[in-house]
Amino acid sequence: MIVELINTGSELMLGRVLNTHQQWLCRRLTDQGYTVSRQVAVPDTGPDIRQAVGEALARADLVITTGGLGPTSDDLTRDLIAQLLGKALHEDAAVLAHIRHFFECRRREMPARNRVQALVPAGAIVLPNPHGTAPGLAMEVRPNPFRAGKRASWLVMLPGPPVELHPMFAESVLPLLRRVLPPSGEFVCRILRTTGIGESAVQEQLDAPLRRLVEAGLDLGYCARPGRVDVRLAARGSEAEPRVASAETIVRERLGSRIYGVEGEDLETVVVRLLAECKATLALAESCTGGCLAHRVTNVPGASAVFLAGLVTYSNAAKQKFLEVRADTLARHGAVSEPVAREMADGVRRHARADYALSVTGIAGPGGGTPEKPVGTVFIGLATPTGVAVERRFNPGERETFKQVTAEQALDWLRRTLLAAAVEPARRPPDCAPDV
Ligand code: ATP
Repeated sequence: MIVELINTGSELMLGRVLNTHQQWLCRRLTDQGYTVSRQVAVPDTGPDIRQAVGEALARADLVITTGGLGPTSDDLTRDLIAQLLGKALHEDAAVLAHIRHFFECRRREMPARNRVQALVPAGAIVLPNPHGTAPGLAMEVRPNPFRAGKRASWLVMLPGPPVELHPMFAESVLPLLRRVLPPSGEFVCRILRTTGIGESAVQEQLDAPLRRLVEAGLDLGYCARPGRVDVRLAARGSEAEPRVASAETIVRERLGSRIYGVEGEDLETVVVRLLAECKATLALAESCTGGCLAHRVTNVPGASAVFLAGLVTYSNAAKQKFLEVRADTLARHGAVSEPVAREMADGVRRHARADYALSVTGIAGPGGGTPEKPVGTVFIGLATPTGVAVERRFNPGERETFKQVTAEQALDWLRRTLLAAAVEPARRPPDCAPDV
């Protein structure tokens, strides 16, 4: 089945609004077994919308448009599509009543202009809009004048505002699609999240062992994000589940603990879960990450059971005052150094009385780099019940990415340490559950 998406809106082309519908709709459609093969964004102008819709109808079984159903003069989608398909527009009494009611509930006079939103092309199905005035519209284009053999297509028009589009899609569009265009065969998609290994290295590890499955129809994809790489395994048809399961086994064998979770699972969620399973606690001492680690950990529901304290000690004085980093260490090695990271981790662990502590000190840039310690240099400290270790990393990039990547590395180091502690009883913190 060929599915195409057309996002209309001059604000998208001017870079004023991020086209979130593209991602949101592609994701929801994929989850339901529909794969979008093409997506275009066009401005709110008649020729552009007409051309995009005509071209999509020439190829696709399902065309979804977004935007342009409002009452203003730049909202053209409904009128243009009716014209293009030679459908008369008629005023739908139920839609008009809904629009009137919408304004009455808000104690506002209905502007005359909103009446156009009650116009429905002949033969179209109205998709109710409980959150706004513009209903969505769906119609079967049969015969389809744009397609070879005049083969029928479905055309679905959705409103622009996300608060209107999202519920309408779930409540009206999906049930309609399941009825009129059921997805062909089962669709299975699994995403494994990896960290600590680059995109090319992931691909090198997986390409050869997965080749046979890819030839048999497995869709294998890689997506690099700051500090992590997602591996996508998808398949369609009656063999979809066993095919994806075999691929997952191979990926897990090859990448081992580099995989920290599946789609929807963040590294911080995994770390909080592992800490909770070990009945262990965490403290953080951050400098260049400016609280990014603490922010991520505290985003996880239930973090309070394991997270004791996070200090952002940016200045040397703060490192000395709150973490007992020695003046001599700072003077001899500089704030961005292995010994300082060590003392920061040790200090915050002792002060917070935590089982584990992470520390971060580095040069985010753009200034402050030296030949020995260029911008991007960072030292990550990890204090555990058995000692303190420090890793030196190099994460060049702009400040936000630097923070994200560094936080990912620190959390991943803690994750791998907790996993190792769980399998090596001697390295467990005293009260860690033995069966973890
Ligand atoms: P309205 O009745 O508000 O005019 P509409 O169906 O005509 O609704 P548009 O005018 O195209 O929709 O868009 C309304 C608002 O919805 C935009 O200003 C924008 O904030 C949001 N929007 C539109 N398209 C997108 C998109 N592709 N991604 C994210 N937001 C969008």
